[in-house]
Amino acid sequence: MATEYLADVIDGKKVIQSLDVSDLSAGEHTFWFRICSNALGQWLHLPVMVYKGSKPGKRFVITAGVHGDEYNGVLVAQKVASQLATADISGSVVIVPTVNLSGMLSHSRDYSSNDPDHSTANLNRFFPGNKNGNEAQRYVYQLWENLLKPNADLAIDLHTQTSGTLYPLYVFADYRLDDALNMARLMNPDVIFDDPGDPGILETVWNQHNIPSITVEVGVGRYSDYPLVDRSTKGIFNVLSDYGVLIEGEALEAEPPFVEGKELTSIRAETGGFYQPQVELLQPVREGDLLSVQTDSFGKELKRYYAPRAGVVLSFNVEPMRATGALIVRLIH
Ligand SMILES: [Zn+2]
Repeated sequence: MATEYLADVIDGKKVIQSLDVSDLSAGEHTFWFRICSNALGQWLHLPVMVYKGSKPGKRFVITAGVHGDEYNGVLVAQKVASQLATADISGSVVIVPTVNLSGMLSHSRDYSSNDPDHSTANLNRFFPGNKNGNEAQRYVYQLWENLLKPNADLAIDLHTQTSGTLYPLYVFADYRLDDALNMARLMNPDVIFDDPGDPGILETVWNQHNIPSITVEVGVGRYSDYPLVDRSTKGIFNVLSDYGVLIEGEALEAEPPFVEGKELTSIRAETGGFYQPQVELLQPVREGDLLSVQTDSFGKELKRYYAPRAGVVLSFNVEPMRATGALIVRLIH
């Protein structure tokens, strides 16, 4: 594999269709990565930032925007990039801040295709993609095969909770992998979930390729949370320091998170309506504690939802109107 340059230059940046960090010179590089064409035959391009040190070292890949409505992750990726531009590093960091272009343009979690025979797709169930599959599968394949996989020893995928709900700073890590657990703790998050993985998720596929990775959830879907963006950026620099990528500066001690858990309980709306949470994030609850009050369209109370077992509040709705089956409170145990 080598970095393949196309003849095109967009806004002064070279267009590539594959990236191999090993053949780049030291310093900062910004590219457009050609990922696929739309139904009009126009090429779509992902922004890519590469920071390469003059000495060898660990190679990180940081992604964000796999879900198109999760902007805090995108802001973290951009902030890490701007701070790396002036840092002295070993190894390399590749940053892909807006993976799901069609989702981002429509403020949607999912990828939407121009193919009428193609449902919208959760890209984070489609990794490592399929060369001969539908549009979303091919999009993921080109991303995985020619940009992500060849350039990583370790990886971080940045998300938030889905629109309408929020998380604290929350990390998924497969505890069987020492490096995944180490990175999770170095992020100094509020919560870590011991995540055995699921098919098609980018974190799982990284791990299956012996590239330890974590998924970081940076608060609320759709809306910005700058204090949490700052905390997450510091967490990533702590990880980069610990692995020797940042030459100056030592990694801070990982502080124990508020909770490390391995079981989740999601309380969902039994019928649609307006749901007012009665708990705070990270609040410990006992079995039977009141979690949420539901009202109807006339404002009349319909139902109260209680904790089915003891746990800590990991998520709740911030959009009051919830569909049948939608998340209203999630507990971690
Ligand atoms: Zn997400």
